[in-house]
Amino acid sequence: MMKRIAVLTSGGDSPGMNAAIRAVVRKAIYHGVEVYGVYYGFQGLIDGDIKKLELGSVGDIIHRGGTILYTARCEEFKTKEGQFKGIDQLKKFGIEGLVVIGGDGSFQGAKKLTEHGFPAIGVPGTIDNDIPGTDFTIGFDTALNTVIDAIDKIRDTATSHERTYVVEVMGRDAGDLALWAGLADGAETIMIPEVDDKMEDIVARLKRGHERGKKHSIIVVAEGAGSAVEIGKEIEEQTKYETRVTVLGHIQRGGSPTGRDRVLASRLGARAVELLLEGEAGKVVGIERNEIVHHDIQDALSKKPSFDHDIYKLSKELSI
Ligand code: ATP
Repeated sequence: MMKRIAVLTSGGDSPGMNAAIRAVVRKAIYHGVEVYGVYYGFQGLIDGDIKKLELGSVGDIIHRGGTILYTARCEEFKTKEGQFKGIDQLKKFGIEGLVVIGGDGSFQGAKKLTEHGFPAIGVPGTIDNDIPGTDFTIGFDTALNTVIDAIDKIRDTATSHERTYVVEVMGRDAGDLALWAGLADGAETIMIPEVDDKMEDIVARLKRGHERGKKHSIIVVAEGAGSAVEIGKEIEEQTKYETRVTVLGHIQRGGSPTGRDRVLASRLGARAVELLLEGEAGKVVGIERNEIVHHDIQDALSKKPSFDHDIYKLSKELSI
């Protein structure tokens, strides 16, 4: 059995990554395995920014956003030379397996390590919820609740002023955050990258609502579906309703993780350690129908992220 493993966080951070780090460290130590933390993602791996973590190193972090291991984007790790430099560092420290917490880009890195003979397991941490093979990623629930809280506040002022509000949320390629927040907030329209909305349909919808006496309208736009500023301008021009735009930005990435994200992170982090100890490599853990599962990294990378058509349809039906 492995005697020493390491953990790193990579790519964009997400709330709950700390809870996942804690689970990796505590689960490994529980099984008598030493754990090292790699700081600054794959960049730190190349640079040998690696330190031993103890039980106490991960104390008092379960409720904190961000990542105590910091994160980075590292172009050099996309090259074979960079990957072998990383493996040399791991070997220098006597490390035999690695847990990579991050999004799909980070899983590419984990896949390369495994292909070069170094066992790595991926844990999906991203607010985008865009990883195939898991119903939810760590951080999505927290970001969703942050967006809901923000839109609730916007709704108060939207009602007072009888305005149309366009709210831009994160999601370059995946619309889950916009979709779930839109449904939870009763948005009139949800614009996501997976669906090509026509502006005339959106305008017609807004006008219908206005005619039947709606005091305000909220449009939730995923950043990948277009710029909220441009969309807001167009809506104001075409409807003549006073329109305001809010881009929520990086507040969506921070904050204390929700209970759901903490539990998910703890379960996934612990399972990743178990897989390494069982001799597995090149896998990504996930949750499907409340069961902890794992798939080949390749499967998590090759399938297109799917969005929930039922939720999209329901949000349309409920916001007539
Ligand atoms: P998010 O989408 O939430 O920001 P991510 O993990 O997808 O997270 P990326 O910036 O795409 O974020 O990837 C993080 C890091 O993973 C990159 O900076 C790079 O070091 C490594 N990486 C990405 N693609 C590859 C690849 N093809 N081969 C090796 N390493 C890669």
